[in-house]
Amino acid sequence: MTMQQASYLAEISDQYSVTEVTEVFQPVEIDPRHPQYTPLSGIRKWIRYAWYPTIDIISVIGAIAAIASFGHQGISWIDLGILLFMFNLVGLAGEAGMHRLFAHKSYKVVKPLRILLALAGSMTGEAPILEYVAYHRRHHIYADREGDPHTPHYIAAEKPLSRSRNIWHSFFGWKYNSKTNQIAPPERYAKDLLAEPVMVTINNYFYGIVLSSFLLPALLGFLFTGTASGAWTAFLWGGCFRFCVMTLMGDLIIRAGCHLFGTRPFIDQANSHSGNIWFLAIPTLGLAWHNNHHAFPGSALLNIDWWQIDPSGSFISLLEKLGWATNVKRPTPEQVKAKRFNPEIVG
Ligand SMILES: [Zn+2]
Ligand SMILES: [Zn+2]
Repeated sequence: MTMQQASYLAEISDQYSVTEVTEVFQPVEIDPRHPQYTPLSGIRKWIRYAWYPTIDIISVIGAIAAIASFGHQGISWIDLGILLFMFNLVGLAGEAGMHRLFAHKSYKVVKPLRILLALAGSMTGEAPILEYVAYHRRHHIYADREGDPHTPHYIAAEKPLSRSRNIWHSFFGWKYNSKTNQIAPPERYAKDLLAEPVMVTINNYFYGIVLSSFLLPALLGFLFTGTASGAWTAFLWGGCFRFCVMTLMGDLIIRAGCHLFGTRPFIDQANSHSGNIWFLAIPTLGLAWHNNHHAFPGSALLNIDWWQIDPSGSFISLLEKLGWATNVKRPTPEQVKAKRFNPEIVG
């Protein structure tokens, strides 16, 4: 272990999260016969750069068409049902699966459910699973400091227009910044998943999985109505409108909003700017308890106080009651007490 790695470990070992400590530096055997992950470079990098605006523009146009149609014909119960089904399927798989299960390893599930969560979670369209896990682990290690891939504190605050440029960076710009793309290689930050052939395969079919999240609602719309127009309106609501709302939730509200605004009841060891925004807890399926999350990144549940609602945490607790989830990590009352913000201690 190099000096740099040792100081890394010392820095992050007090986060009550085993993820970074055990995974970043743990050697993992990868069978060369397994499907391989190919790092983004050359033409593949440019395809990725074109992919994000293309899928975003298509979904924005579709969402505008859905909203325009709402003005004169409303939304059918079938489309509303498909929209809610898709939002919850993809949202819970994204937050409870991609984030809390794969990036933080805050609980364990049986293999079929693990695969389902990886597939449906990839439908959020944020990034292929290996890259998502890698940059998210790096986000926690460097939270809001130099090296954080998508902090809204990217450029020093005193520089002109820095606030708007920082928000742009955390929202969208970081995806196109070759520096931020290179600092979180899965070979370093997601070795555990690289050793799982099925996860590498899911990673490599990212574009197809995201496109299927638009086709699935259309298929459901056709099955329920038996008409092409039923498939079309379900595509607009369950595909395009849902994708837009989820992108706004993940990209703008969480990466930018929850690192700029909100209350900070807990001491976050990495000293990030993470904040809790209570009125966004339900639409973000719990992730808006962001200060709680950065204070206890290894916890599967983000609702620390009794009045806080964490839909993804409730979903994980339900899986636990059904016997499908085990090793569900929660902070102990002592850990919560020790991190509760105390102005007398931190001055
Ligand atoms: Zn964060
Ligand atoms: Zn996290």
